[in-house]
Amino acid sequence: MAAQRSKFLKVKCGDCGGEQVIFNRPSMVVGCQVCGATLAKPTGGTGHVVAEVVGELA
Ligand SMILES: [Zn+2]
Repeated sequence: MAAQRSKFLKVKCGDCGGEQVIFNRPSMVVGCQVCGATLAKPTGGTGHVVAEVVGELA
């Protein structure tokens, strides 16, 4: 298994304050499960996390 610099981030939705774990390099737009606000979106090779990052998971 190739070691990629990928990880999961715990983010906090800026709209509703709900916390959600998302992949740091999403291949598609990731929306908040509560309110549907955009939390992260794919930009080139590296995803762009829009929401506030509150933690990291290995
Ligand atoms: Zn939300």
